[in-house]
Amino acid sequence: MQSVSHPHSGWTWPTPRSAYIHVPFCRHRCGYCNFSVIADRDDLVQPFLTAIDRELAQLDRPRIDTLFLGGGTPTHLDAAQLEWLLQQIELRFSLTDQAERSVEANPEDIDEPKLRLLADHGINRISLGVQSFNPQKLKVLQRSHTAAQAAAAIELAAKWIGNVSIDLIFAAPQETVSDWQADLQTALDLPINHLSTYALTFEKGTAFWTAQRAGRLDGVDEATEVAMYTMTRERSSARGLRHYEISNFARAGFRCRHNLAYWQGRGWYAAGPGAARFVNGHREVNHRSTTTYLKRIERNESPVAESDAITPLQYARERAAFGIRMIDGIDIAELARETKIDLHSECGDAIEKLMSQGLLQRQGNHIRLSEQGILFADSVASELLG
Ligand code: SF4
Repeated sequence: MQSVSHPHSGWTWPTPRSAYIHVPFCRHRCGYCNFSVIADRDDLVQPFLTAIDRELAQLDRPRIDTLFLGGGTPTHLDAAQLEWLLQQIELRFSLTDQAERSVEANPEDIDEPKLRLLADHGINRISLGVQSFNPQKLKVLQRSHTAAQAAAAIELAAKWIGNVSIDLIFAAPQETVSDWQADLQTALDLPINHLSTYALTFEKGTAFWTAQRAGRLDGVDEATEVAMYTMTRERSSARGLRHYEISNFARAGFRCRHNLAYWQGRGWYAAGPGAARFVNGHREVNHRSTTTYLKRIERNESPVAESDAITPLQYARERAAFGIRMIDGIDIAELARETKIDLHSECGDAIEKLMSQGLLQRQGNHIRLSEQGILFADSVASELLG
């Protein structure tokens, strides 16, 4: 696909070099999860595989540098289904030799044959949804694996895939700072190159949200959450995993290139229920419901539920808002060269205000979050969005 100019500015949108494929199937829905997920409907896997291939067939076999199979749980598919999906993806995209190819997995779904299959199809990064190694916390989070399974899965994935990332949740109900310290320590003692950590949130529509409203469940207080986050930053960097984005830590050379493409607004293709893409200045999101997605594709209807044309100004502001979440910060002059938008004049006031509040630091054209700003990254980003 060729890059396309914006009609009023001569501005050329970046040609996407990334693709995201959403596989919505899970064993069950965890209480905190608000992703596009379908549980206990493995009868829909085959129709899904047919549908996703039809959706991908609309593309002109674009060349990509990063592929991310997420979900849901891609490894919930059995080996034959997973192999078929990987083969179709290889047919529908031209993956460069050095492409980063990630797959999300849950510890209970991977074994040696499945990992070998992934490795044989060029998967070179695995992102494991571990969330915790603490049996009580795993129970509260409604995870279906044990701590021992999680540790074994990390070791096995390191052996077969090499590059392992894990997700951990902190600030779970009743969790103490020392509970989190133990979780983090266990993670850092295992062979991981990348760590993503998220404070538990109670998203509307989830079982946790309902339980919180009914007074049956609650997270930790803010001071405890900040103590946990600060500890994560200190301990991860002491063990060689550098903090590079608000929620992400990596060894040198192992930052997630696919997520960097999102944060740097590089454009990406996407397919599957609820999948969001950014192509030629359009942000689109597919229908979230797997059954609706399947029905629409079966009827030759578009799976897209929402589509927005982005102006170059919105794009420049989004680049600043997402870019500021990177710990290294952003170069406003470089952003202006790339986007043809002068952010000094567009968000100069917001930047000044954030600096006076001590949330941003500036050195020449370079701005970054201060230590305090790192704790308020969402508010800083929304100020920059305008
Ligand atoms: S395994 Fe992951 S995607 Fe599936 S329900 Fe749980 S949190 Fe959501």
